[in-house]
Amino acid sequence: MKVAVIGAGWAGLAASVALADAGHDITVFEMAPQAGGRARSVAGTDPERPYDNGQHILIGAYRDSLALMRRLGVDPAQVLLRRPLALPYPGEPGLQLPPGPALVSFTRGVLAQRGWPLAARVGLLAAAGGWLARGFRCDPTLTVARLCAGLPAVVKRDLIEPLCVAALNTPAPQASAQVFLRVLKDALFSGPGSADLLLPRRPLSELLATPAAAWLGTRLRRGQRVQRLAAGWRVDDEAFDAVVLACTSVEAARLTADIAPDWSARAGAFAFQPIITVYLHSPGSALPSPMLALRESREAPAQFVFDLGQLGGAPGRFAFVVSGAADWVARGGCGEAVLQQAQQVLTWATPPVIDRVLTEKRATFACTPALDRPPARIAPGLWAAGDYVQGPYPATLEGAVRAGLAAAQGVGAEAGTGANGAASGSPTNTP
Ligand SMILES: Cc1cc2nc3c(=O)[nH]c(=O)nc-3n(C[C@H](O)[C@H](O)[C@H](O)COP(=O)(O)OP(=O)(O)OC[C@H]3O[C@@H](n4cnc5c(N)ncnc54)[C@H](O)[C@@H]3O)c2cc1C
Repeated sequence: MKVAVIGAGWAGLAASVALADAGHDITVFEMAPQAGGRARSVAGTDPERPYDNGQHILIGAYRDSLALMRRLGVDPAQVLLRRPLALPYPGEPGLQLPPGPALVSFTRGVLAQRGWPLAARVGLLAAAGGWLARGFRCDPTLTVARLCAGLPAVVKRDLIEPLCVAALNTPAPQASAQVFLRVLKDALFSGPGSADLLLPRRPLSELLATPAAAWLGTRLRRGQRVQRLAAGWRVDDEAFDAVVLACTSVEAARLTADIAPDWSARAGAFAFQPIITVYLHSPGSALPSPMLALRESREAPAQFVFDLGQLGGAPGRFAFVVSGAADWVARGGCGEAVLQQAQQVLTWATPPVIDRVLTEKRATFACTPALDRPPARIAPGLWAAGDYVQGPYPATLEGAVRAGLAAAQGVGAEAGTGANGAASGSPTNTP
């Protein structure tokens, strides 16, 4: 079949590779000059040292993203630094999970966290046991703050709140407990290594976008924004047998407004949360580890800092991450506040200066309780792929890739050709 894929973010790239592998004739439309969508590199003054469009972290549970990289000839072991989950704070070792089977590793890690009183450690293990016993399910209207209301304050401050805002990009008082529990289940309580942190040690585009673009060749049409989609299917003036809408939810809502108004209204109804990444420069400085957690407050915006010099990037460059940053976008002055926070809590060889501030106002959808997410199938021959499509995960790279694979599978199943997520060779989440 002749299939159009609209959008070359990680969802569109996953769909394109799976469809092409299943023998379809694909054309990928991407409005930007480069592929990668939100997960791409951004040029700086030094072409050798681009910035990431926001620091990204993968985890060991990102099975389909890692399989897609391998399919495109990228060795995850080369481009990602794999570390057992650890949340060190400046001057404190924090929670560290030792290697081993998930349950044992979590229990041993929590018990060894001597920065917390014993009662706090036991309280967390008891709560986690309860979540496990209930199959990591809860009332879908619950927020993370309410789910964890009974936990010791130190556990909420040092573990739950930073994990929640990092994984769901939504502060705990507004975040969906059901989605949070699902993330915990897949990360902390599935196979060995699932909770491992995978930190990019190459520019973000090199993980997937650049190799995928090379693999697609002339099938990828860059700098071409699709203006119109008509039933039948016509993408602008070109006819196709099937279409995968892998653009943002806002663009997908615009393109389907006439042909699928109900679906369009659902796709257009998301609220968004920003992420601000503040890059500081301090020649000669280094952190005690490539990633540190930071304590957020009204004056201190960042929840994490990454030492990019230790991650194969520019020496002396540090990425401070402010997730769930709606308040800071409204208030302004985030860069200066991060600089002050950095000066207060970290030790520097030379005074840090603001290098660059990247603000993604629509970084991800706000992952709130009982969110209505539109399904992948819009109409026969018309499928949606993107991190926002119905599924158990928050907006993540893995969610995007799985949505892309599921859309490709849907197109193939409708055509009877069985494009079955060939990039991973494993079953994907069906819509
Ligand atoms: C700052 C930041 C930090 C993040 N950190 C993490 C992290 O640590 N871990 C993690 O897992 N996830 C993280 N995410 C989320 C992750 O980046 C996204 O979930 C993922 O990239 C979404 O991919 P996508 O393909 O669904 O959408 P997108 O990446 O938005 O791709 C959509 C593509 O469609 C194109 N497009 C739109 N309209 C049209 C049109 N009309 N015609 C043609 N092309 C069109 C766009 O240009 C874009 O390339 C982060 C996101 C941001 C912004």
